[in-house]
Amino acid sequence: MSSFPTKYIFVTGGVTSSLGKGIISASLAKLLQARGYSVTIQKFDPYINIDPGTLNPYEHGECFVTDDGAETDLDLGHYERFLNIPTSQANNVTTGRVYQSVIDKERKGDYLGKTVQVIPHITDEIKNRFRILAKSGNYNFVITEIGGTVGDIESLPYIEAVRQMKWEHGKDCLNIHLTLLPYLHTTGELKTKPTQHSVKSLLEYGVQPDILVCRSICPIDEDIRQKLARFCNVAQEAVIEAIDARTIYEVPVLMENEKLDEVVLKKLGLPTDTIPDMKSWKEFLEHLSHPKNLIRVALVGKYVELKDSYKSISESFIHAGASNDAKVEIEWIHSEDITEETVAKQFEGIRGVVVAPGFGKRGIEGKIAAIKYARENKIPFLGICLGMQCAVIEFGRNVLGFKDAHSTEMNPATSHAVIDLQEAQKKVTRMGGTMRLGSYPCSLKEGSKVQQIYHGAKEINERHRHRYEFNNEYLGDFEKAGMKAVGVHPEAGLVEIIELKDHPWFIGVQFHPEYKSTVANPHPLFVDFVKAGLQYKTPQEAVKKEKV
Ligand code: GLN
Repeated sequence: MSSFPTKYIFVTGGVTSSLGKGIISASLAKLLQARGYSVTIQKFDPYINIDPGTLNPYEHGECFVTDDGAETDLDLGHYERFLNIPTSQANNVTTGRVYQSVIDKERKGDYLGKTVQVIPHITDEIKNRFRILAKSGNYNFVITEIGGTVGDIESLPYIEAVRQMKWEHGKDCLNIHLTLLPYLHTTGELKTKPTQHSVKSLLEYGVQPDILVCRSICPIDEDIRQKLARFCNVAQEAVIEAIDARTIYEVPVLMENEKLDEVVLKKLGLPTDTIPDMKSWKEFLEHLSHPKNLIRVALVGKYVELKDSYKSISESFIHAGASNDAKVEIEWIHSEDITEETVAKQFEGIRGVVVAPGFGKRGIEGKIAAIKYARENKIPFLGICLGMQCAVIEFGRNVLGFKDAHSTEMNPATSHAVIDLQEAQKKVTRMGGTMRLGSYPCSLKEGSKVQQIYHGAKEINERHRHRYEFNNEYLGDFEKAGMKAVGVHPEAGLVEIIELKDHPWFIGVQFHPEYKSTVANPHPLFVDFVKAGLQYKTPQEAVKKEKV
């Protein structure tokens, strides 16, 4: 690793939220990584929850889980998918966590005699956390994304901490400000005023941005770049266009064309004579943009109105599609809209069914109807976490004849609790961070389909986020009738994977494979599921073939 002090890059946002700070951070990180540097990205979220684990997905989308069991913001998923390196608890910090540790220290007496205040105590705690990953000595660059928009009351302490970092680290620290240039249709021009105002707010807090990345729906001409440079005190080459992209995976290449990485290196006093090696990334883009086939896959869940709720699943399908030279179109189907009467129509032309993770009762019967249809019609099926649990319930009810089979999460009074709380979970009273979280090993059964899919592995590691489990009291009944436990926790014997004997592709996983799919390493379960979908003949196609 090159030897120079860790460089800190802070990415702030202006004008509106949702401009894609996570993607810009990940794209810059990708380019620096492609030049041979080691890079990590962290996100600081200004809300007061300790972590997003207790948040409804409608709030901020999916909760992403790391190997070490941290429940984090979905942007960490992008960081991992772009960089192909795992993140951890240290990569996501919230205001709640910052205050919790300051208050803990106060109660312990660490500040004895002092008034505990936002400055310096909260800002010191923020700065310590900005520096934690750098302290490992593993990174040349630590990119920190500050959630929210500059000017929000709740993000003020973070901006103040960035100001102090810039003062303390001088040339080893810079700020990239991501803003929006709105396009006015009536006059046909891009407007710079909101960006000027947002930079003014940053300046009021003492932070001079070094680079402006400007989201826009059309190219930004030299006049506008010059104007922004002049009003915002940045070099003209540091005004970077971030035009709307067809896919997020194109953004690193767009940033490379705009020389974002070069400007960053120059400002941080590093050589610019290396060239980013983006060969494999560009090959992936090539597969992505020229698919040979198209398949439609149904994603059954109860948060489908907000697609961010299933971000890692939809991204996994992009990776798996590209590696099969296919475009996977996701048909988002609300589980509350599915019944045994409607499902055949809803699944017309569908070549694969995924039943999504989730919590609580809403939409469960729809998920079960979807699974029954996929099982009986031999459509490739992947059940993830709650999706696997529903597959067990469906099999219990419709194959084993346990009419009221259920999970005790939905029906505590069921006489067939085929899914039940783990013993250790029965004592849990606090909701935050108490599920079975993070990476656990899973032994794969010799000769199973799933072992083939994992390229013959004997043991795998996958990430978890659940309280309930397959109830092993019923294992004998299920296996006899054809639903096999083909992946189990090596010590605890917990069932982690089930597959059906008489079905071309029917797999349920208690873990979340979607958290581990990256551009460089598409997840084998998704890759094989798409392959199975491409081979599947829909009932209409099967009839056509018979006629020929
Ligand atoms: N609600 C289920 C459980 O807690 C499944 C969780 C999930 O799908 N992530 O076990």
